[in-house]
Amino acid sequence: MAENVVIIGSGPAGFTAAIYAARAELKPLMFEGFMSGGTPGGQLMTTTEVENYPGFPGGGISGPDLMDKFRAQAKDFDTRCFQEDVTEVDFSSRPFKVKTAKQEVEAHSVIISTGAEAKRLHVPNEERLWSGGMSACAVCDGAMPAYRNQDLIVIGGGDTACEEAMYLTKYAKKVFIVHRRDELRASKIMAQRTIENEKIEVLWNTVMEDVYGEQFVKGANLKNVVTGETYEHPVAGVFYGIGHTPNTEFLGGQIKLDDHGYILVEPGRTHTDVEGVFACGDVQDKVYRQAVTAAGTGCAAALDAENWLSEKGLV
Ligand code: NDP
Repeated sequence: MAENVVIIGSGPAGFTAAIYAARAELKPLMFEGFMSGGTPGGQLMTTTEVENYPGFPGGGISGPDLMDKFRAQAKDFDTRCFQEDVTEVDFSSRPFKVKTAKQEVEAHSVIISTGAEAKRLHVPNEERLWSGGMSACAVCDGAMPAYRNQDLIVIGGGDTACEEAMYLTKYAKKVFIVHRRDELRASKIMAQRTIENEKIEVLWNTVMEDVYGEQFVKGANLKNVVTGETYEHPVAGVFYGIGHTPNTEFLGGQIKLDDHGYILVEPGRTHTDVEGVFACGDVQDKVYRQAVTAAGTGCAAALDAENWLSEKGLV
């Protein structure tokens, strides 16, 4: 018997899709992931306090606690969850096939919510200091007291880095963009705004070789790639803005992606180019990338899947 809907990925988008699909009596089956594409639960699992998800006044909620609540609510409505990576899909015939190392299931519809991983440099002291002054999301972490009125670094030269740097100027004393070249990759308007911002200074032709500090970041070890000069640059935090990698490899080219590897959906909808396959959350969103926007598109994907299944007489 083919499943009505299989949800691949277990961040805010996937669990919201599961809650809606389960309440619509579609009996969803979810592959939460295991090793590939980051921790099951998504990027919130590596975030400390989440203060911008509505409903949690008085200091917010930790990322892992928020994901526990998402998961518990999906299970309240009998979502069947497997902590397994989907290794392969076959969308060439119906019902679709979804494979993990342990099982193969058939599905009339599939919701892809595998997210995107923020790229990191993995400098030597990064793992040790990751929760003590390093982040890949200024909107998530930038307002933390430890960063207020402090000097901060953003790594990268694209739109993400510029946007992160501009956001951080609300709280920081000064933001240093560390960029490996002598020209920003960001769109013209964003680059211009960044360069004109008095609280931002771009350190051109510079790379970060490491971070230092005991429990918290105290600074970064930088190198000017033109002169070869290396030096310590004291800052209270380092934010990565070097891009994201959407988790789409397991699709094996069966779904249309954009130039950066994000799933292309119909504008304002969650439909992909394969009928019956829907995408939600960061795997199809390179602009907002927030837990709440991911949850919103997860809801939309479940409603779109439900409508499609009933139009086709499959439920
Ligand atoms: P990009 O790939 O555009 O930029 C990544 C930046 O990080 C580049 O400047 C790159 O340097 C640098 N970088 C990459 N790897 C390394 C490394 N190992 N060491 C040092 N620096 C590195 O990614 P973005 O996330 O900025 O943008 C992706 C897409 O999303 C773009 O199309 C962008 O326009 C879009 N976007 C749109 C937004 C909006 O509309 N509001 C907001 C954010 C993104 P180099 O330049 O040398 O390659």
